[in-house]
Amino acid sequence: MEAVNNDKFRSLTENVGAFRVKEKTLLCPEMNRLGSHLIAATFRGFGVKAVVMETYAGLDLGKEFTSGKECFPCQVTAGDILLYLKKEKERLGKDFDPENYVYFLPEADGPCRFGMYNKYQRIVLDSFPEFRKLKIGAITSKNSYSLLGLIDEKQTPSFRKAAYFSVVVGDILDRLLWRIRPYEKQPGMADEFIERSLKAMMTAFEEYGPRLDFDRILDRLGSLVEEGRNIIDPAIPPKPLIGIVGEIYLRTHVQSNQDVIRMLEKYGAEVVNASLAEWVNYTSYDRMREDRIGLHLSLKQFRLGKMMRHLKNVLVYGLELYYQHMRQDQVYKKIQQLIPVHGDHRVGHLEKILLEDDLFSFDVGTEACLSIAGIIEYVRNGFNGVLNVYPFTCMPSTVTSAVIRPIMSRMEVPYLDTPYDGTYQPGREAAVRTFMYQAQQHFRRNGRKDLDPS
Ligand code: SF4
Repeated sequence: MEAVNNDKFRSLTENVGAFRVKEKTLLCPEMNRLGSHLIAATFRGFGVKAVVMETYAGLDLGKEFTSGKECFPCQVTAGDILLYLKKEKERLGKDFDPENYVYFLPEADGPCRFGMYNKYQRIVLDSFPEFRKLKIGAITSKNSYSLLGLIDEKQTPSFRKAAYFSVVVGDILDRLLWRIRPYEKQPGMADEFIERSLKAMMTAFEEYGPRLDFDRILDRLGSLVEEGRNIIDPAIPPKPLIGIVGEIYLRTHVQSNQDVIRMLEKYGAEVVNASLAEWVNYTSYDRMREDRIGLHLSLKQFRLGKMMRHLKNVLVYGLELYYQHMRQDQVYKKIQQLIPVHGDHRVGHLEKILLEDDLFSFDVGTEACLSIAGIIEYVRNGFNGVLNVYPFTCMPSTVTSAVIRPIMSRMEVPYLDTPYDGTYQPGREAAVRTFMYQAQQHFRRNGRKDLDPS
């Protein structure tokens, strides 16, 4: 592929934004495999031709067209889109038309670089004349990923509800996998079962998502969980429980993190990763929190117009969060009656943890808020070790590491940082193995709280 130099700067507003995706092929990058495929299925249910692109095979292209200073997920996703377009162009020849596609790349508002991926990738795409007209469909955490503008306005509230439900169901399937795979009767049974389950749930979301028939989806999920729990060999004793926090892309994208969960399992762990719903809830919580602060300020200044605007937003985001919690509780409650998978925490609870000892502040924002408090929560729930998984040089995760290391050492709970940049570090497996040795010792001394009958 050959890039040409741009003599003029392409407007970032022209081809990055909330574009209508009906009648287009929506190209979704694969982050968490289950979550990405379920969201794409939900889009399809609402009449959008959504496909999940092959991932990581284009990493060489991603590295070729970035400078090396970008965050690793930006390089991986840049490679995914470039490889997809290259193959599509080869397949269709002169019939290839970039205007038939929208590349879906959400962003986050905040002090780190996630808000810049789609701008940067716009510049990369603009350097190929044949891709200049491909639009980047961006949704933003600024309005808690409202999805407005992507599909018909009338469909947006329903789509948002179905999409959130798909995120929670994806979390549950992941938790089911991590719960059963360390105890499977035969190697490979759990992976094969989860792949089958994913297909079944995709069909369910395509069919029942647009009708918001969540009971049907939940019934299907329940039947799958009943089948999945039989994979567990009851003769295998409980294992040390390891929690994962970190940057959302790296900790959920198995290719980028070199399948670190499987490596932990190889050395005797049962693992729980932070959920995807946590991030969605965090964006709603954070918007509500900001408007609450704005409301107090405008009350003090007695600025009526501002007061009303903030009050309205507090109610909107508060209701959104309430709805999300209600759906999350509905799913976890049903599944936990069938198998003891780990529950999810409330973001408000995480903020209280940070406030207890002034560890960090939600005013700073970013995933550091979730990771620092999430680690303390894992420790309080009796986990035997915690891993922080992130892209090399990731700002929030480096902050997390700096804050949490001395605390973990004081609490005598094993902790390991695992940064990734696409290279294979010769010492990584030895580090994970040593960490697991410490976790085994912790487990022998303290057991696992979730197994404690008292
Ligand atoms: S969270 Fe980390 S990896 Fe993601 S954009 Fe921010 S600095 Fe980069």
